[in-house]
Amino acid sequence: MKPVEIEAKTLIQRSKIPSIDYVINPYTGCVLGCAYCYASFAGRQFGQPVKEWGNYLYVKRNAVELARKELAKMPEHKRRGTVLLSSVTDPYQGHETQYRLTRGILRELDAVSYPGTIRVLTKSPVVTRDIDLLNRLPRAEVGMTVTTTDDTVSRWLEVRAPLASRRLRTLAELHEAGVPVFAFVGPLLPHFATRPELLDHLFGQLVETGVREVYMEHINLKRYIRERMDAVLADEPEDVREAYVQARTKDHREQLDAIVAPLLDKHGLRLRFDEVVHHDEFKGDRPDVYGPPAGPTA
Ligand code: SF4
Repeated sequence: MKPVEIEAKTLIQRSKIPSIDYVINPYTGCVLGCAYCYASFAGRQFGQPVKEWGNYLYVKRNAVELARKELAKMPEHKRRGTVLLSSVTDPYQGHETQYRLTRGILRELDAVSYPGTIRVLTKSPVVTRDIDLLNRLPRAEVGMTVTTTDDTVSRWLEVRAPLASRRLRTLAELHEAGVPVFAFVGPLLPHFATRPELLDHLFGQLVETGVREVYMEHINLKRYIRERMDAVLADEPEDVREAYVQARTKDHREQLDAIVAPLLDKHGLRLRFDEVVHHDEFKGDRPDVYGPPAGPTA
């Protein structure tokens, strides 16, 4: 798959995600292609259907230049806003090693000594390349999406993403290097309802990396997301497919909530937003990521 280079008109966009003021997406599309990705609508502007998510990438080749210009025009008081990098793509997917757009954007934020929070969300170890910049920015933090400790499950659902075990190592590397980290445990996979010991294990592994705070989301199985999920589930046994049907229900979410709370206490983990978020009203922005109810991705 060859990325398509484009000239973007704007880069830093106002966000509807609670707790996030601005989102920056250096790319449109995400080659990691997770089956559950909520951002699969993002290629609409290029005529890309949801089912093609993961098979295209548009590279905003002027992203760094736009960041410089837009930051220069941003009044001082607006620079206190929280920036999410990124909301509908992974800012460190493999092509970032070639294009270095995310690095360039962080450099521009550093050049203006951006005083607000810069929240990076990714599934990729490429983020460690930018530890120098992340440590220079006064309020940068990195979230790594980890939905399982089982690399087989990770490869099944997070089709081309770095394996879960690699992400756990990346969190530890970032933490050891002094970068504030958190984990995004989302979507909360349906099998935790019948195998809570697996979530217990996941929390334990996160704590070992240095993570003290998690952001969690219930799985979002809206129709456009099911379009891709159903293809992944088609060859699975009946009980697995049934679990993903049950996962759309309030009962299922309440069952998981009851499992999550004591496990968080057991591991001394803080839950961001004090709840496992459910994107009932998801309207845009990111997929595997963020915020009640408008959320992510990575
Ligand atoms: S969930 Fe995140 S990493 Fe996965 S395809 Fe979507 S944007 Fe990319």
